[in-house]
Amino acid sequence: MPITIDNSIYDKSGRLLFCSIEKFVSDICEGNHCFICGRHPEGVSFNKEHIIPNWMLRLANIHSGDIRLPNGRLHQYGRYTIPCCSECNTLLAEHFEKPISKALGQGFSGLRAFVEREGTERLFLWMALLFVKLHLKDKTLLENPDIRLGRSYISDRYDWSTFHHMHCLIRAHYTGAKIGKYVHGSILFLEVGNSSEDKSFDVSTITNAYTLFIRVKNIAIYTVFDDSGISLEAIEPVLSKITGVMNSAQARELAAELAAANIHLKTSPSFGTRMSNTDGDNLEIIAFHPEGEAEFFPKNNKLIGHIKRYMLENFCQTTMHHTREEALELLSSNKYSFLFNNEGKFVTGGCKENPQPARSE
Ligand SMILES: [Zn+2]
Repeated sequence: MPITIDNSIYDKSGRLLFCSIEKFVSDICEGNHCFICGRHPEGVSFNKEHIIPNWMLRLANIHSGDIRLPNGRLHQYGRYTIPCCSECNTLLAEHFEKPISKALGQGFSGLRAFVEREGTERLFLWMALLFVKLHLKDKTLLENPDIRLGRSYISDRYDWSTFHHMHCLIRAHYTGAKIGKYVHGSILFLEVGNSSEDKSFDVSTITNAYTLFIRVKNIAIYTVFDDSGISLEAIEPVLSKITGVMNSAQARELAAELAAANIHLKTSPSFGTRMSNTDGDNLEIIAFHPEGEAEFFPKNNKLIGHIKRYMLENFCQTTMHHTREEALELLSSNKYSFLFNNEGKFVTGGCKENPQPARSE
């Protein structure tokens, strides 16, 4: 009998085809089962999966660099790993890391050629994998290392059930599930400036907006996972005004715009998995896409400002026009932009040390 009491579905060989929400939360988010196949570590060989893939750390030369965690603390990239069963780890390497590392290793033109060749689905799912790994790691990281203040973890703020759809996505290569129409979210990759002052790697998640931004040297990749591509269409007016190569701060601001568009979406798509029988044949991840044109809530500058401050706080500096505190205040109310000047024109020639931010309304 392939269906279990929690509605998970196995095939005849015991492979977990559909991992129910209950099983995902109990075994993977709150337990220590393999986050792909769902098997318990007992009797199965486990090893460490780099959250930011090893090849990428090498490409950006950041093994000894640090990622900034959601609690503001730093964690060394080289030691930033989560457990994964050896078989699934090998499978992830074959399916995602080999082809994507080859593409990104050839720079922006390599990535473009890769996407022209096979489309964006693999890249989209690989970004989803990164997003899920980044958040699963948080269940092992203390919110505050001083346990006299209580033992709480960064992930205590997450509702794990809301990650279930993404979990289905990142194991589609394992289950053989087809990615249905409208399941693919927004994805954008752009060539950006990489001045000598810039770090060679940047990554940020905007969790509530299911948005992930990464930059490897001069390649920025943006993904929204739960929007059927609507957010990317919504920021077209912003994209059309970007008339030059963005610097690292501007690249981040664009991620904030994309995330804000998703949060403003009135009715988000919802997702599910269907199959043609109880053996889990013809597995497909499907989207329930709202009919008609997408509707958005009225522009909430406080909300947008909150996201922009989260993304850009470290770039705000005291200049001849304002103090850092004033800049942060303006940023918080969405009246400060690294991308556009007062006339709404793209700010060119900015770099990290002199981002030439401008007030914007
Ligand atoms: Zn596994």
